[in-house]
Amino acid sequence: MWKALKFCVLAAVILALAWWVAGLPGEVNANAGDYQISTSTPVALLLVLAVLAVLIMLFRVLGGLRRAPGRFSGWRGGRRAQAGELALQRGLVAVAAGDASGAKAASVKARSLLGDTPFVQWLNAEAARLSGQTEQARLAFERLTQSKEMKFLGHQGLLRESLKAGRADEAAKQAEAAEEAYPGGNWTRRQRLTLAVRDGNYAAALRLTQEPQERTALAVAAAEKAETPKLALEFAKQAVKAGPTFPLAQAALARALRGLGKERAARKTLLKGWKSAPHPALAALWFTPGASVLERAQAAALLAAENPGHMESELLLSETALTAKLPGEARRHAEAALKAGNADGRAAAILAKLDGEPAPAIAPAWRCTACRAQLDEWSCACPACGKVGTLTPNRPSTALTTTEQG
Ligand SMILES: [Zn+2]
Repeated sequence: MWKALKFCVLAAVILALAWWVAGLPGEVNANAGDYQISTSTPVALLLVLAVLAVLIMLFRVLGGLRRAPGRFSGWRGGRRAQAGELALQRGLVAVAAGDASGAKAASVKARSLLGDTPFVQWLNAEAARLSGQTEQARLAFERLTQSKEMKFLGHQGLLRESLKAGRADEAAKQAEAAEEAYPGGNWTRRQRLTLAVRDGNYAAALRLTQEPQERTALAVAAAEKAETPKLALEFAKQAVKAGPTFPLAQAALARALRGLGKERAARKTLLKGWKSAPHPALAALWFTPGASVLERAQAAALLAAENPGHMESELLLSETALTAKLPGEARRHAEAALKAGNADGRAAAILAKLDGEPAPAIAPAWRCTACRAQLDEWSCACPACGKVGTLTPNRPSTALTTTEQG
């Protein structure tokens, strides 16, 4: 509606103008040498307009021709950038897939199209790392550490390389630099934790994790290694706080209290620990050194009373009865332990001894929840898979043993 109205108004104006021009009186004369042109005013005006239109068109064409090379190179540059971006994408996928030759090809192509940008440098470094060209990878990662935005990736690469080569000092330096380049990053924190554990610096490792299982194990290890009894108590308390039912945490607390001369508190801790998670490590601390076999049997009864009927209580009573030469008691408690689910061979070994038969093998005391390795000794990090805080008392199930025997 508006469009139609506008068109009508415009047409009317043009018509009126044409009418006015056509009606202009007089004539225009132009002299050039011997030639003389004379025409009416409206025709002369039209001629001037036509010449102006031709001139404008001519200028436009000339300007377009002048800008053409720039436009062409811009178009070519855009195409190069696009192809380079595609090469980077392919390289990134190849790195993620662990395809060394694919990453190498993409990195060469990306460099020829985009030049030596930090992203291209990273791709080049990863391609070298994947194809096992350690020195080339190291140099490329080192160059990447000069980039303001991507220096973290440079330090990350160097850290990985030094860990692989077993250069712990260099790895620690790179971990620090990576932390500086990207503060608070989770990946860097895990690497620093692994390095601290490897160094036996459990107190430092403890500061790097909030995970309760890891904190428990690290605090137990830190308490064992503490230089003063006071420090040991501090770590032991942290261990109990993070893992109240982990027997070694309670054992560490009892040991630390005893180290400070707080015997009563130590014994209270052991009783409490036995109640929540009975374990031979607690029993070992419970007995007074140099006690007679009968005294040990009496002490065992006191501890076992905290958790009557538990497999560990029955085993403790059976073992002390055996050393106190009370075979009836020893048998009764060993059988009770079996009934309570003991399947690691300890109860069976006592019974075999009482019957004068060869003792069966006893299962390792610890098991890794991550890699299922079975170990005789506890350690803060699993010696098989390196994970921290994954060792737990090994409790083979009766069901599994029956299946294996059947
Ligand atoms: Zn493991």
